[in-house]
Amino acid sequence: MSERFYSAEPITRDQVMLADSEAHHLLHVMRVSAGDRVTLFDGSGAEFVAEVVASTRSQVEFVVLSRAEIDRELAFPLIIGVALPKGDRQKWLVEKLTELGVSRLVPLITERSVAEPKPASRARLEQAVINASKQCGRNRLMEIAAASRWAEFANDSRDDASPDTHYLIAHPGGRLMVDLSVCPQGTKVLAVGPEGGFAEREVDLAVKQGWQVASLGCRILRVETAALALVCAVAQPSTDH
Ligand code: SAH
Repeated sequence: MSERFYSAEPITRDQVMLADSEAHHLLHVMRVSAGDRVTLFDGSGAEFVAEVVASTRSQVEFVVLSRAEIDRELAFPLIIGVALPKGDRQKWLVEKLTELGVSRLVPLITERSVAEPKPASRARLEQAVINASKQCGRNRLMEIAAASRWAEFANDSRDDASPDTHYLIAHPGGRLMVDLSVCPQGTKVLAVGPEGGFAEREVDLAVKQGWQVASLGCRILRVETAALALVCAVAQPSTDH
């Protein structure tokens, strides 16, 4: 895979202009010049081979040579609600969830957490999604949804329930993944609590809505470790395509 660059504007014409951080990366890190070819993507699912035709100090102009739909998504939608950790751990988690193919991350507000991303940190997380997608080859961006209260997330999820959608809440003392019924296909909706854990009544609420309670082993994991362990448990590469 050659170097990939992201266009926030949908690429619908033969000419594309990149500015801002993408142009900076192209001009001052990659040092591209006229005639160089790179891969562009715009989050629509396609990727494009494009040739540099001109540049200024802050913009790079391309002509698009080819377009191809290249699907590097999981074979099913994977949604995860997480009571986000703080600071750099949040950004790290977003990067890894993007690499693993998660479709949507929903920041959770639970009894023991208030980790609602502020607009500035939200922009930082969206940039982390773009950077991870450039590196890992995803042509669709992981969505970062608006923060949701636990009760809403647990209930809303059930509103679009289809028989092959699986709902798993990670909670110490649940059943091991091998003992849960999770078919490889079908949408997965996952939930991971805050450092203080889900309150028992929050777990009860989910169980009443039909969620399965999953244990990730006898050690207590940090939020981001638990989120990655749960995603890996349901998104084995064999379910990938
Ligand atoms: N002190 C809390 C643990 C919080 S860990 C408690 O004892 O419940 C943060 C989150 O990671 C938890 O809410 C849970 O969703 C997940 N988690 C961590 N370790 C886990 C394990 N061994 N099994 C299942 N979920 C786990």
